[in-house]
Amino acid sequence: MTATVIDGKAFAAKVRAQVTEHVARLKADHGITPGLAVVLVGEDPASQVYVRSKGKQTVEAGMKSVEHKLSADTSEADLLQVVADLNADPTIHGILVQLPLPTHLNEDLVINAIDPAKDVDGFHISNVGLLATGQKSMVPCTPLGCLMLLRDHLGSLSGKDAVVIGRSNIVGKPMAQLLLGDSCTVTIAHSRTKDLPDVVRRADIVVAAVGRPQMVPGDWIKPGAMVVDVGINRIDAGVKEDGSPRTRLVGDVDFDSVAKVAGAVTPVPGGVGPMTIACLLANTLTACCRANGLEAPEGLTA
Ligand code: NDP
Repeated sequence: MTATVIDGKAFAAKVRAQVTEHVARLKADHGITPGLAVVLVGEDPASQVYVRSKGKQTVEAGMKSVEHKLSADTSEADLLQVVADLNADPTIHGILVQLPLPTHLNEDLVINAIDPAKDVDGFHISNVGLLATGQKSMVPCTPLGCLMLLRDHLGSLSGKDAVVIGRSNIVGKPMAQLLLGDSCTVTIAHSRTKDLPDVVRRADIVVAAVGRPQMVPGDWIKPGAMVVDVGINRIDAGVKEDGSPRTRLVGDVDFDSVAKVAGAVTPVPGGVGPMTIACLLANTLTACCRANGLEAPEGLTA
């Protein structure tokens, strides 16, 4: 193996420690405690795990954590009322509505009902526009986490060729905007891209956000490139001793072959994943600082 394996878990712990320190200072100097509200509709098991983990890490960082658990048949009007109440609550600086929502609820409508200043997921159309025009915004957590890992390992990204595979609103597009903001030459690839291996081979930076297990092999990678694997895919991994199926998590990148060629690669698990919640905490702190007319801490925003 030649690549440096990026320890996202350790870096996320560093980000959380920085957030915790700033939160303590906010309390001591200004008597302010940042507050994050997470709204969960229904009982999707994966969402429940995420929400529990978000709540736990919010409290560990010294912030106020509020959870609103609503039944799967909650009406749009009731959900919008919960959002409106949180918008009006001065002790809440960040609001996150856990996606996906049950199908009878209009996700765009609900997300755009959140006060953009409290939109710590960065999905509100105002924040999307602010990011696209290079203005101060709330930045989606996963791409922000990827950017932090890239800057930490590479220093300046200016002039680098970057290829983002995937054009979703939550990862691919904001990732491309952030790389452009750091003066990369950015290509966004997707399912209709022709000659994807050749496109990826040009890149100094590859961000894979596709949702296809181990799709990107080592022979697509330019030697020395940095590869950031956003994908989280559960695949079969034989059977357990008791005969039940065994599964394991893999990314969108074929780690073993990529690690032989790349300069650096993020593993799955333990790469981008832990950065997402760390950046949610960082965004909540940023939102709280801005709401109180204070500078957001350096290094925790784009
Ligand atoms: P989406 O399904 O919304 O988007 C996937 C993108 O990949 C689409 O733009 C699609 O193209 C593109 N794509 C699909 N097949 C191909 C292909 N064969 N070649 C090139 N591009 C292709 O996924 P998300 O962006 O929401 O998530 C991507 C992955 O990241 C998932 O594995 C998800 O679990 C993971 N994830 C991880 C997070 C973390 O915290 N680490 C957070 C969020 C997501 P097209 O638009 O043409 O259909």
